[in-house]
Amino acid sequence: MWDDRSFGPVAKAHEGLVMAVVDRDGRWFLLRTMCDTLLWADGSQLEFIPAADPVGPGHGTLFSDAVVVLDPGHGGVNHGAQGPNGLREEAVNLDIARRARDLLQEPHLVDWATGIIYPGRDIPAAGRVWVTRTEGPPEADYEAGLLFRAALAGTAGATALVSIHNNAAPDGPSEGPGSETFYMYRDADSRRLAGLLLEEMRSSFAGFDVPWVGDLDAGAKYRLREDGETDYYGILRRARVPTVIAEGAFISSEPEAALLATPAFRQAYAEAIYRALVRFVTTNDPGSGFTTPYPRTTPAGSGDARPTCRVPTQP
Ligand SMILES: [Zn+2]
Repeated sequence: MWDDRSFGPVAKAHEGLVMAVVDRDGRWFLLRTMCDTLLWADGSQLEFIPAADPVGPGHGTLFSDAVVVLDPGHGGVNHGAQGPNGLREEAVNLDIARRARDLLQEPHLVDWATGIIYPGRDIPAAGRVWVTRTEGPPEADYEAGLLFRAALAGTAGATALVSIHNNAAPDGPSEGPGSETFYMYRDADSRRLAGLLLEEMRSSFAGFDVPWVGDLDAGAKYRLREDGETDYYGILRRARVPTVIAEGAFISSEPEAALLATPAFRQAYAEAIYRALVRFVTTNDPGSGFTTPYPRTTPAGSGDARPTCRVPTQP
């Protein structure tokens, strides 16, 4: 049952779907759906999850106070990039997000010299972990718009939002992994997280020996719209918490698509996300690998929910 005390900014509908509450009128609550639409719902049909007090990242912050939102890119009818082996980016991104969630929800010990993650108590579980477009009906994998993803992170009081992707259309061969991270141009925390995630992905992927590909300006970077001021990517423009986009490997390249098909590589990707988040939340490490992007004119997919998008329900 719903009452005033249990009202929180994140609502769970009876199908198990998690949505941000954006307004309220008496017993009615306005939700931001995965289709980016707004929907009034009866409060008695909802379960409310209280917001965490947002914590600022940095030395002295406890990892157990961190709220993390993992956002597997694409979903539903939006498949993302596709590998020559038929692998779809949306499925790979989702599996990596679930692996990262599992790591974040348990305490661990990290050997920082090697990056190996052990069971242990040195690093507590994160306070709360959300994964967009997965909560709800079993095996849920639905279309989700960028407003929905950003709103969930904002209302959950997320310490960080990591949008998980894999890349396509490289410039050419690369000596090492062509991993990239994109940060919010005007957000120092987002930039630091992008540098840390880039470091950890390079370290995680160094053990895989394949003919890598990459962009000439690979690294931790930004992309701006034509106005030269605002972030090009919608999730970075809409989110109100420190957010990065990860582009771990090139699914469009055959050797890297073969790697992305393996549990070992997906786990290595998830471990990089985990270590980067631990360092982001609990240290002042600056990150590295920042590059100045060359100007791009090739449009990327908008990521907006399509007019045909439907809010999923259980059968
Ligand atoms: Zn993508």
